[in-house]
Order: sequence, then structure tokens, then C-alpha cells
Amino acid sequence: ETLVNRIAAGEVVERPASALKELVENALDAGASAVAITLRSGGLDGIAVSDDGHGIAREEMPLALERHATSKLPDEAIEQVRTLGFRGEALPSIGSVSRLTLVSRQSGADGWRLVCDNGAISTFEPAAMAPGTRVEVDGLFDRVPARRKFLRSPRSEYAACLDMVRRLAMARSDVAFVLEHDGRRVLSLPAGQDREDRVAQLIDRDLAENHVVVSLEREGVALSGVASLPTFHRGSADHQYLFVNGRPVRDRLLVGAVRGAYADFIARDRHPVLALFLSVPAEEVDVNVHPAKTEVRFRDPAFMRGMIVSGLRRALDSAGM
Ligand code: ADP
Ligand code: MG
Repeated sequence: ETLVNRIAAGEVVERPASALKELVENALDAGASAVAITLRSGGLDGIAVSDDGHGIAREEMPLALERHATSKLPDEAIEQVRTLGFRGEALPSIGSVSRLTLVSRQSGADGWRLVCDNGAISTFEPAAMAPGTRVEVDGLFDRVPARRKFLRSPRSEYAACLDMVRRLAMARSDVAFVLEHDGRRVLSLPAGQDREDRVAQLIDRDLAENHVVVSLEREGVALSGVASLPTFHRGSADHQYLFVNGRPVRDRLLVGAVRGAYADFIARDRHPVLALFLSVPAEEVDVNVHPAKTEVRFRDPAFMRGMIVSGLRRALDSAGM
């Protein structure tokens, strides 16, 4: 069982940022209104995620560390799943390659702490806490040298974690996020922000005065978002974010569509800054190309590309561009 989990771990978690993504998505799935993240050495030494969500019942806690023991697949078909996670793979995978501490309390019940040390549950005891859940992951891959050696410096692991938090926080501007790294507070985002404010705060505050609002609906697909004015381009394409049905995704489609839409404006080596949100009927998209779920496959990629190009063009036109 531990071996199976370790093999799965190679798929679900390959570095601190991917573990962090799973933990934050679980917090969001639990209905959290605030998520607090603490990292040590880019997550290599420690990752902790606390939320004020609905918590886990005492008897469910050991199950959460068992493979495929998701609580999120009641009766509906897998395509209808609205939560971010539903495979029940993340916690067991992470717990098989780290020392994972899960502390949780449902309101009206007592809190419990469970420790899973590289696949073996070593502690299960009462713990005092406010309602919600806290997951700590220490020493990721310490016992799996073959994987540990693929990890990069704390600095680049931290950069990947920060990028992940940015994406997740953009997708959920209703939720408060705090990020601390090595004792320093790096991000503090209030709950209930407008999406435009959230995006500007996360990418560049000056974007607040230098953007167009994108909004287009076609055949049941809705595109919305924020895109920079051509006068506000940056030297790298790092700040182009795409979300599909609330999930941060990476897709080459975006890069090409953005180039097409801004074709008349893009100077050499300059790139627009943008965050675009596509809302697509479930049958039009497969978000499960990879367990880490950052890739998508559209049934009709040309249509989606057209949406993005038209949405951006229209927004730029109406700004007199
Ligand atoms: P999945 O998210 O795919 O269901 P995970 O392995 O990520 O699988 O989590 C296993 C289960 O643990 C979840 O289905 C959920 O019941 C519970 N769980 C994990 N994290 C949290 C959390 N932060 N708050 C409440 N429940 C959680
Ligand atoms: Mg999950």
C-alpha cells in the first residue's frame, strides 16, 4: 500500500508547489473563507496550510490518508464534480513521502491530530484548535532520494510555490489568503476582493489603471478577465494566466491566442499581462489530462482560441486601441 502510494506520489506531487496546490485546493473544497500558508525553504523543509473550512470528522481522518478515499464523489457522475479534487490521491500520496500532520476540527466537535510518517500513521490524539483544518508537510521526499535529487534550490522551489499561490488566489478573489515564507509575510489578500483588484494586487498594482476588462459570451461559453493595455507590456510572458472553470491551467492555446489578439501592438520581446477566466460546459473540456490537473483538453480548441482572440480584440477596441 505504501509502495502504491509512493508511486502515485510521483504523479501527484513532484515538488513542493504541487503538494501545496493539492492542500490549498482541499481547503477551498472545504468551503474555507480564509487560507493561511507557511513555507520554509521554498517548501523543501516545510509546508503548512490552515483553513477555516468545514473540517474532517474524527472517524474520517484516517480514511483521508487512504488511497481513493475521497469524500467528494457521492452519487453524481464524475463529469459533474464541482469540487477541485475528487480522486482521493493527494493526501495519501503526500503522506507516503513526507511526515504529514493533519489537524482538524468540525464545529461542535473536538479537534484531532493525526501524524502520518512516510506512509505509517504514528499518532492519533485529541488536539485543541479552532474549527477548520491544518495540514503540515515536513521533509518532503527525505526518504525518497531518487525524487529528492530532482528538487531544485529553495529559491526556485519558492518561486514555483509563489506562482501556484498567485494562480489559486486569482481564481478565488472571494477567499482571504496569507502567505509566509521563512518568517516573512509575502502576501496578504483580504476576503471578498473584486477580481480586478485581486489580479492587480497579485501581478502589478499599476495594472489597476492600465487594463481593459474582457467579457464575451458565445454558445454557452463565457470569457471574462483583465488584460493590460498595449502600453503596459512586460519583458516576459510569465504573467499570462488562464483559468478554466475556476481551475488554474497552463495551455499553449493561450499564448497563441494572446499573440493573435495583440498582433498589431506587440513590440519585439514585449508581452501583455493578463488573467482570463473561461467558463465552459463540462462536456467541452477535460481537465484530467494529468493528475496534477494543470493541463486541459478542449473538445473544440479552435473555438476557444477564437473566443480569447475576439474577447481581447473587442476589449482593446472599446478602449480605442
Ligand atoms: P480529494 O481532494 O481528491 O478528495 P485528497 O487526498 O486531497 O482527495 O483528500 C482526501 C479527503 O480528505 C478529502 O476528500 C476530504 O474529505 C478530506 N480533506 C482533505 N483536506 C481537507 C480540508 N482542508 N478540509 C476538509 N477536508 C479535507
Ligand atoms: Mg484534494
